[in-house]
Amino acid sequence: MKIFDKFKNLGESLKKTKQELSGKISSIFSGGKIDGTDLDKIEEVLVLSDISYKTAGEIIEGVKKRVLKNKDLTEDVIKQALKEEIASKISVEFPEIKESGEKNIFIIAGVNGVGKTTTVGKLGKYYTDRGKKVIIAACDTFRAAGKEQIEIWGRRTGIEVVSGKENQDPASVAHDAVQKFKEKDYNLLLIDTAGRLHNKKHLMEELAKIKRVISKSSGKGPDETLIVIDAGLGQNSLVQVEQFKEIVDITGVIITKLDGSAKGGIIIDIIHKLNLPVRFIGTGETPDKISEFSPEIFTDNLF
Ligand code: GDP
Repeated sequence: MKIFDKFKNLGESLKKTKQELSGKISSIFSGGKIDGTDLDKIEEVLVLSDISYKTAGEIIEGVKKRVLKNKDLTEDVIKQALKEEIASKISVEFPEIKESGEKNIFIIAGVNGVGKTTTVGKLGKYYTDRGKKVIIAACDTFRAAGKEQIEIWGRRTGIEVVSGKENQDPASVAHDAVQKFKEKDYNLLLIDTAGRLHNKKHLMEELAKIKRVISKSSGKGPDETLIVIDAGLGQNSLVQVEQFKEIVDITGVIITKLDGSAKGGIIIDIIHKLNLPVRFIGTGETPDKISEFSPEIFTDNLF
């Protein structure tokens, strides 16, 4: 059996965040050791890497407690304390992602442009490579390009895609996909949804309807409802997650484009502030550039 690296490219994709964070902290130490007041400067650096003020404040308070008795506030001492403090904020025990059953259904939601369709394609390949038989429902029937894009991904990866006509009711595409999923020996159904958040009422009704259709046709609700966000949007992504949480029960977050962003600090807030698990990280544009998330690898690669 092939051995897969679940965390492939995760450390590498944090390079920009690390450069920003670690580089700026090092420059505070350019005169040698620091004193307590310099810790406020470090707090600013955390905020600049898109950690919220609240969380950054908590981290610095925690760092102060950890280094209180230490006379030599060297760069190494502070970075180690930061690492431990951040690790304590994100080492939350979440239940495992629900993919181990014979048949599982994931809804993938998110605002247009964040990398949702690409992520659905990557996830399809990720699970296919791990021996699952995957089927994709292309329920974003409002964008002809979206449908084409997912069909191309399907052809590239050999995954069956159920898609509808342009402007067809997305829930009816979900219905057709669930029927196929039930009748054949598929293990995982990935449902790509539309992401026009500017029309929130419509989006809300649409997602609720897709959920109803899944429950009715499959006899159970979706196993996971994952929201895709773009790391480059930093704190604005947090707002998107909160908006979707008002609409559906979000069970986890997928963060794309971490490779091109220095705003990896957002991950700390997703877990600590919103209390949601980060399930996957997009680490590039090609099909295998997806990684599961590991709090240990994350903190190890921040500094
Ligand atoms: P959607 O509108 O949310 O479905 O977005 P798309 O899937 O069409 O992706 C938008 C753009 O983001 C495309 O150019 C993708 O190649 C790019 N993209 C998606 N995920 C990643 C990622 O993890 N890293 C990078 N660098 N680009 C990505």
